[in-house]
Amino acid sequence: MTSFSLVFATSNVHKVEEVSALLPEFFRIKSLESIGCTEDIPENEPTIAENAIAKALYVFDKYNIDVFAEDTGLEVDALNGEPGVYSARYAGPERDSKANIDLLLKKLEEKDTRKARFRTCMALIMNGQTHLFEGIVEGTIALELAGKEGFGYDPVFLPDGYTKTFAEMSLEEKSKISHRSRALKKLIKFLLEK
Ligand code: IMP
Repeated sequence: MTSFSLVFATSNVHKVEEVSALLPEFFRIKSLESIGCTEDIPENEPTIAENAIAKALYVFDKYNIDVFAEDTGLEVDALNGEPGVYSARYAGPERDSKANIDLLLKKLEEKDTRKARFRTCMALIMNGQTHLFEGIVEGTIALELAGKEGFGYDPVFLPDGYTKTFAEMSLEEKSKISHRSRALKKLIKFLLEK
């Protein structure tokens, strides 16, 4: 396959790092800065799928370039799927990960199940067509924070089948099973089959 590049519509350095580590030789990502996009891309849709599409569409409409974007939510069963699409702003508009985790642990104090999952929706706009890919990892919310790797809710997310949180795993370990890598693998498979 001839090599090509796509804009990855994110300003999250952790997401860039995770995605870059998994890309095959033929596939390179361009940053938003490299196309002159330095503004905050709105993400105010009611679902993570719609947010992913909105972020990709924003770049496509404004810069007329092939692009992919992703949105991720943590869904906790005992909280009826919260924080879900509000994962980043759970404890307020400051998007403070520590405050988000503190609020989550507080809300789970009296609950008898801590079952949860990360869901990533990745939207690709290529040749003007939109394609959507989803990746899920099931797990539970730990009783307390553990680990320094990763970002966001990683210190309290225990993936099923493991006794350590995502934040206690290396980038490679997390990427073997993560929601984001699962969505990305589907996107790469799609590109390879084209
Ligand atoms: P967004 O997809 O950037 O809107 O992220 C939603 C929220 O989920 C933010 O608080 C992120 O920090 C968090 N988040 C997204 N991906 C991950 C992940 O892979 N691990 C832990 N938290 C994540």
